Amino acid sequence: PFDVLVVGGGPAGAAAAIYAARKGIRTGIAAERFGGQVLDTMAIENFISVPHTEGPKLAAHLEQHVKDYDVDIMNLQRAEKLIPARTEGGLHEVRLENGASLKARTVILSTGARWRQMNVPGEDEYRNKGVAYCPHCDGPLFKGKRVAVIGGGNSGVEAAIDLAGIVAHVTLIEFDSDLRADAVLQRKLASLPNVKVITSALTTEVHGDGEKVTGLSYKDRNRDTRHDVDLEGIFVQIGLVPNTEWLKGAIALSPRGEIEIDHRGETSQPGIFAAGDATTVPYKQIVIAMGAGSTAALSAFDYLIRLAPA
Ligand code: FAD
Repeated sequence: PFDVLVVGGGPAGAAAAIYAARKGIRTGIAAERFGGQVLDTMAIENFISVPHTEGPKLAAHLEQHVKDYDVDIMNLQRAEKLIPARTEGGLHEVRLENGASLKARTVILSTGARWRQMNVPGEDEYRNKGVAYCPHCDGPLFKGKRVAVIGGGNSGVEAAIDLAGIVAHVTLIEFDSDLRADAVLQRKLASLPNVKVITSALTTEVHGDGEKVTGLSYKDRNRDTRHDVDLEGIFVQIGLVPNTEWLKGAIALSPRGEIEIDHRGETSQPGIFAAGDATTVPYKQIVIAMGAGSTAALSAFDYLIRLAPA
């Protein structure tokens, strides 16, 4: 069995695997797609101490760094079931889609999350070319430009407030007849001169010139009319979904499906830890996921050295 089995090969999982392997303990990492969300990212400018890099480049470096250590890498493997140990100190089991079963004294869950998409024409084509999902990451790229935020929940309204301080103008588009964000956020939003809120509106298409975004169309749901907005950026804020469906019933998840962890990264099951975007951590970022993965690995090691000698 593994001493530490990491499930998920994004920044959190890579950091966890490296920290575990550096303790000289038997470490494995199973990932559906090594690199995770980083593979879908272009410019990265907030990976501290590296002023600019690109997603695929960082993903390759993550994998190379893990390979520098004695880590059993199982790429293109999807986990479909977690069976926690029945007794404290017993072995946990992770079942893979291919039928294999992996056993480990500790498990670190780092299966990340995915942004909910609008699924409209142009969205995929202009992803990273004006269509963005993360205001902390890509906001500064739109300095002085016009953007839209899609979604009027807390994350959409927070994004609009954040972006209003950087860009020239923000159009916030909400499907419902009212915004769903907290009242204090809505008051803040209403006080900003360069934000326009459009409710009862369904975004129907992203437009571009072949290279980058030039605008969007939406349907006014009350009048059934079509409208166009000229702009350079679109931030889609209609939900970040954790990849934790396979963990239901095995460990405690929040109402949003995020893995509940304490400040050491431990889940509701002793010996099972978690890190990164799949957890209740408040901010979803590369450096934060890496820090959390390191924390989880050190906590797993701490747990292992307290187990009764075999
Ligand atoms: P992920 O990167 O999501 O990795 C999850 C891993 O788990 C993957 O290997 C996946 O294949 C695997 N996995 C999932 N389910 C299973 C399963 N059942 N079995 C096995 N493996 C599984 N952050 C920044 O800090 N700066 C940026 O500039 C930035 N830009 C971004 C741009 C885009 C377009 C996107 C989508 C995200 C961006 N982010 C950025 C966010 C950043 O990518 C994430 O915060 C970070 O990747 C989270 O790391 P993670 O390891 O928790 O999860």
